Amino acid sequence: MGKYAFVDAALQELRDQGLYNTIRTVESSVGAWVVVDGRRVLNMCSNNYLGFANDERLCAAAHDAINEYGVGPGAVRSIAGTMSLHIELERKIAAFKGAEAALSVQSGLNTNLATIPLLMGKEDVLFTDELNHASIIDGVRLTKAKRAIFPHRDVAALADLLEENKQIEKKLIITDGVFSMDGDLAPLPEIVEVAERYGAMVMVDDAHGEGVLGSHGRGIVDHFGLHGRVDIECGTMSKAFGVMGGYIAGPASIIEYLRQRARPFLFSSAATPPDVAACIAAIDILTETDAPVRKLWENGDYFTKKLEDLGFDTGNSETPITPVMLGEAHLAWSFSKRLFEEGVFATAIAFPTVPKGKARIRVMLSAAHSQEDLDFAVDKFAIVGRELGVIS
Ligand SMILES: *Cc1c(COP(=O)(O)O)cnc(C)c1O
Repeated sequence: MGKYAFVDAALQELRDQGLYNTIRTVESSVGAWVVVDGRRVLNMCSNNYLGFANDERLCAAAHDAINEYGVGPGAVRSIAGTMSLHIELERKIAAFKGAEAALSVQSGLNTNLATIPLLMGKEDVLFTDELNHASIIDGVRLTKAKRAIFPHRDVAALADLLEENKQIEKKLIITDGVFSMDGDLAPLPEIVEVAERYGAMVMVDDAHGEGVLGSHGRGIVDHFGLHGRVDIECGTMSKAFGVMGGYIAGPASIIEYLRQRARPFLFSSAATPPDVAACIAAIDILTETDAPVRKLWENGDYFTKKLEDLGFDTGNSETPITPVMLGEAHLAWSFSKRLFEEGVFATAIAFPTVPKGKARIRVMLSAAHSQEDLDFAVDKFAIVGRELGVIS
């Protein structure tokens, strides 16, 4: 038996369970159409909601930044890596979000690793939705705080947990804004209400909300008109903003504390100049126009209706995330494979990303899609759906 036999066994188990993911290679920029494994296919699985991933204005900003600042920041931000670009991005994020201040970090994942362990210690209690993103779960795991996990979107259960823990002074409720696998929204107004009743802080991870919800894509807090009542918003620049990076927005004192002590800020190098410049360009564009956001929603509504008319189960999405529910992982993988052969790139999502028995194709609509693109996709879903007995 080799030293790594346990790894081979684990990989074999994934194959046996139909959970082994053969990751495809994209050989072009990420637009409505992409070249994948040598074929030009319609892209229905990127988080590129607004088509910014290869937008020429973002690309130009990145080129300019390379010419002026080079490609690397040279250090962690607290030692020598904070550039004027980082400061400008933070100012613009704070203004866009309507927050006092913002901190930029390298990724959305890092926002949770930065914030949660810094704010919460062993005397404290964290309230977290059972379906929260893995990065929130990991942030929670880095603390010694007591965890109170509430059933998905269940504010009554959350209120009970708050009542049980009301003698504990520091309480933080954390939720995804948009749940990425189902496209449903956190009941944020109700969460804020119970939080205020019990003196708890609220933090929302708006990774799939910014660029999608609210005026000009300002996110879920703006969508519900909760400015000043949600303590911390964090999110990513890698989805609707089309680039890479994360931000935390909130009260100036919390942002300053993060700048002094958050570990991903202190111990991992700053985001690169071209990334940061492209993020700034994305925020500038969205501040000026909401046209891409409106186009995204039109596309989402159009596509969902067509799929429902065909008889597909598209779940409970309230956003342009469109899960096509299939059940077993094997079926979802076969569906995805056949779609690819037909020219549609839409990846199956199965356990552990979603619960067992809830495998799906998660279709990600984008403002980059034209109506002809969507009609093409609908046709292919119909063909494969009939072939595999999902619809009649
Ligand atoms: C995608 C996502 C992240 C991770 O963002 P990255 O910038 O890709 O690291 C974090 N939280 C949520 C809720 C997400 O959906």
